[in-house]
Amino acid sequence: MNQQKQKISEKIESIRDDLIELSHSIHKNPETSFNEYKTVAIIIDFLKKYGYDVQEKYCGIDTSFKAVIKGRENGPKISFLAEYDALRGIGHGCGHNIIATCAAGAFIGLAEIIKDYAGEISIIGTPAEEGGAGKVLLLDRGGFDNTEYALMMHPSSGGNNLVGRGGRAASSVTVSFKGKAAHSSVPSNGINALSAAISVFNQIDMVRPNFRIQDNINGIILEGGVASNIIPELSVCEFSIRAETMLRIKELITLVEECIARAESLTGAKAEIKVEPIYAERYPNMPMCEAFKCNMSELGVEMFYPDPTVLYGSSDIGNVSIKIPAIHDYLSITDDKTIQSHSSEYTKAAAMPQADDICIKGAKGLAMTGFDILESEEFRNTINEFHTRQVPEAYRK
Ligand SMILES: [Zn+2]
Ligand SMILES: [Zn+2]
Repeated sequence: MNQQKQKISEKIESIRDDLIELSHSIHKNPETSFNEYKTVAIIIDFLKKYGYDVQEKYCGIDTSFKAVIKGRENGPKISFLAEYDALRGIGHGCGHNIIATCAAGAFIGLAEIIKDYAGEISIIGTPAEEGGAGKVLLLDRGGFDNTEYALMMHPSSGGNNLVGRGGRAASSVTVSFKGKAAHSSVPSNGINALSAAISVFNQIDMVRPNFRIQDNINGIILEGGVASNIIPELSVCEFSIRAETMLRIKELITLVEECIARAESLTGAKAEIKVEPIYAERYPNMPMCEAFKCNMSELGVEMFYPDPTVLYGSSDIGNVSIKIPAIHDYLSITDDKTIQSHSSEYTKAAAMPQADDICIKGAKGLAMTGFDILESEEFRNTINEFHTRQVPEAYRK
């Protein structure tokens, strides 16, 4: 191993127990999107303990933060991204405690050598990945304006150490229909809000055969009446929308809005619509992915490129990857193929010894990849050229 990488790796190894404790503390205090107050306090205390200044409430977001260390002069700006939100009901079933720990470890590891290099490294706390799109808010507020390269990992399962995996674009639409209650013996005295909701589902199903392969709209009814002898006055439903690109998501949102408008005019119920921010599709920076893969291989973890036919999920790292070169590669925390993320079994796995080991290896791999970027201008040019070619023209302003 390269001498500097050895030094970085040894630094991370020397704080192994502390990093694992950090992961476990986050795991024990699961907090959902934008409510990660205790978690952020834990991470900030950890960074301060190692002597780093932390900018709290970064970009005016209560549960975001940033810490920066500068090198000997100006140069490439590398950020390690920490996620730390949990899932309602099942805690850290997406293993974001591991993401936060890897980012903190990578930051401290690379800090070990930054003084000898031009550039700066940072850790950015990115809240609300599971809902609320914290990174989209950070992007809107300039939170990534001082980042040229964004690096993070994500835990996976079943031995799926996947590098360069993409992600689909996604959003969700919530609609409340307001009707008028009436005795069910005389339905004409009321306005049936549930009928309006059902009509939206039926209309979407009518056009479903025309969907593209990656298009998907899945709906649930959150409220649909209180008693069967009352004409429902209120209905609320929520639709998760996925597609290949953000541009296609916009078209599907319009489609849902049109279905809602027709349901309104058919039933007389009035709709109120809330559209969530769009999680963009992901553009993994392949030169950076390849470097991460090589570094993980040196650490004894073999990574693979994914099956392109599999339909993947979504993350707000996609929006970041449109703006700057980014990686979001997957390290498996359990060999058990039956354990799926977003389950209580996965929550348990996220604080088991195999996951703890990934906290350390992931931190090392990310820090070593950060080092590759710091060290070589030629590598940076390759990364930047790839990014320019990869991101579609439509996203460039
Ligand atoms: Zn998740
Ligand atoms: Zn996740």
